[in-house]
Amino acid sequence: MRLPKFEYRIPQTIAEAVKIMADTGPEGQYVAGGTDLYPNMKRRQQMPKTVISVMRLDELNQITGTGSHGLESAPQSRLQTSATTQSSIMSIQ
Ligand SMILES: Cc1cc2nc3c(=O)[nH]c(=O)nc-3n(C[C@H](O)[C@H](O)[C@H](O)COP(=O)(O)OP(=O)(O)OC[C@H]3O[C@@H](n4cnc5c(N)ncnc54)[C@H](O)[C@@H]3O)c2cc1C
Repeated sequence: MRLPKFEYRIPQTIAEAVKIMADTGPEGQYVAGGTDLYPNMKRRQQMPKTVISVMRLDELNQITGTGSHGLESAPQSRLQTSATTQSSIMSIQ
């Protein structure tokens, strides 16, 4: 099954992503990895006219933490980055 036609936007900041969504209204949909959204679009269960990627938003790709408090991971952080960061923090403690 093919994806329906849609406009794909790649904002560079959260503010830009929010503005695009505000301008687009209910026809807009954010996409992170697309694992859920794209199959739903192929099945015509979700039909956004504008798809707004959050993949390039550095503000959503940060990991901080300490050995005693654990990690704080922003939504777009990769598992591999989490594992590497956790190893680094644990080896310092
Ligand atoms: C084959 C398959 C196997 C799966 N296995 C598992 C599993 O083992 N364990 C598990 O927990 N889950 C599983 N899932 C579910 C999967 O983890 C969720 O679908 C998850 O949302 C996928 O993340 P994504 O980044 O690809 O989301 P996307 O498909 O990009 O987005 C999912 C939804 O969130 C919305 N969204 C994305 N980013 C934002 C944002 N910043 N703000 C607001 N809304 C946003 C999108 O518009 C969409 O409606 C599976 C799904 C599939 C299809």
